[in-house]
Amino acid sequence: MSAPSDTQRMEKIVSLCKRRGFVFQSSEIYGGLNGAWDYGPLGVELKRNLKNYWWQVTVHERDDVAGMDGSILTHPAVLRASGHVEGFSDPMIDCRTCKAHLRADQLVEKKGVKQCPNCGGKDLTAPRQFNLMFETHVGAATDESSIAYLRPETAQSIFVQFKNILEVSRKKLPFGIAQIGKAFRNEINPRNFTFRSREFEQMELEYFCRPEQGMELLEYWKEERLKFYENIGIPRSKLHVLTVPDEERAFYSKGTYDIEYDFPFGRQELEGIAYRTDYDLSQHQKASGKSLEYFDEEMKQRFVPHVVEPSAGVDRTVLALICEAYSEDQAPDEKGKMETRIVLRFHPRVAPVKCGVFPLLKNNPQLVAKAKEIVALLRLHMTVFYDESGAIGRRYRRQDEIGTPFGITVDFETLGEKDSALRDTVTLRDRDSMKQERVAIKDLPAIFRERLA
Ligand code: ATP
Repeated sequence: MSAPSDTQRMEKIVSLCKRRGFVFQSSEIYGGLNGAWDYGPLGVELKRNLKNYWWQVTVHERDDVAGMDGSILTHPAVLRASGHVEGFSDPMIDCRTCKAHLRADQLVEKKGVKQCPNCGGKDLTAPRQFNLMFETHVGAATDESSIAYLRPETAQSIFVQFKNILEVSRKKLPFGIAQIGKAFRNEINPRNFTFRSREFEQMELEYFCRPEQGMELLEYWKEERLKFYENIGIPRSKLHVLTVPDEERAFYSKGTYDIEYDFPFGRQELEGIAYRTDYDLSQHQKASGKSLEYFDEEMKQRFVPHVVEPSAGVDRTVLALICEAYSEDQAPDEKGKMETRIVLRFHPRVAPVKCGVFPLLKNNPQLVAKAKEIVALLRLHMTVFYDESGAIGRRYRRQDEIGTPFGITVDFETLGEKDSALRDTVTLRDRDSMKQERVAIKDLPAIFRERLA
């Protein structure tokens, strides 16, 4: 069952993203480029934190995975062998009334009659296949011979480099190759903010194995990936595992799961985990004429490895993180009157800014100097934001709204003016509980090491 959509909540999230610099429309001053987005100063930090954490747990913390970074421009032979040139398409229908181009599955049905979701028109063309790949030309000639494609997924360069990476990394099966990078699909209808874009990033792992290990590893990676989402602050209760039914699965796949999340616009896919058998490597072996076999020394066997692929979207996960974090509660203003507080409850691990640092008064040089000392101390370990303008409550609110988990205030007690025992201590405020504790400046790095781990 699909979760109900919440249009108002989504509107608030989109507006916050623009107002605070998470996401802007691409080419906005020229009217925007549909399906493309630019990440602002906070969005880029959030995105990097996500990608870095994925890379850390998928590559650095494991002995059995090596990384790579392939080119976006792709030789047409690669995508012919993989089946994308022939078959990477969606059925498209045009509405003759309002001229909209629609994906066939977007039509609405009323009393058994298909209609355009935009204008209700019933004068529709028959479906035709629309290839989603972006074509370009390499070099000066613009003819058939110079065609190249912007990759529609990062996976194919992993398959094509399988042999090289196997040789240089000297890994034994099972082992994986991981990649994070841009992918491009000329989606018929980009929609739901960044959810369906024409340019997006993927985090993909191709985990190669012996044929008899495939089904078991599919289960293993499903569980690993669910744990990953929980570790970045998306609770298990908001994640759903869809077993893709036989008739919807690619013909070469022996099992596919989609991990879905309850977005405000409904339950939608975050990641696909597919057991792709030996299809990709076999196709490239056939088309290139180069052996992509693996030699198992113990079993004295030569064969084309099978593969399990967890393939996640960076942009979709960033959007899920923002949707999950967005909340409103009540907090007192400077005069103690309750007001609505917008707060992004990011997991500290992904929060774009980890800590705000505030001198109580901006016109007191001693307070300012102490606060800047703290910034210099912490900056080596994490992203900090210094803010001296406005009432302290306002400054807290501004950080709550961008999800900064901690706030440090330097006050007169820090200077030892009230009680010399409190010299060089500050208040440390927690975004979610709004509780404040008094801690020594010298303990701050250790406290953050523990709370941000
Ligand atoms: P969908 O059914 O939503 O079009 P898909 O099943 O075609 O997605 P895959 O080919 O499995 O997607 O790609 C793996 C992941 O890449 C997806 O789970 C998603 O997170 C991301 N992704 C795919 N297409 C897009 C897109 N147009 N915009 C943003 N992310 C995308």
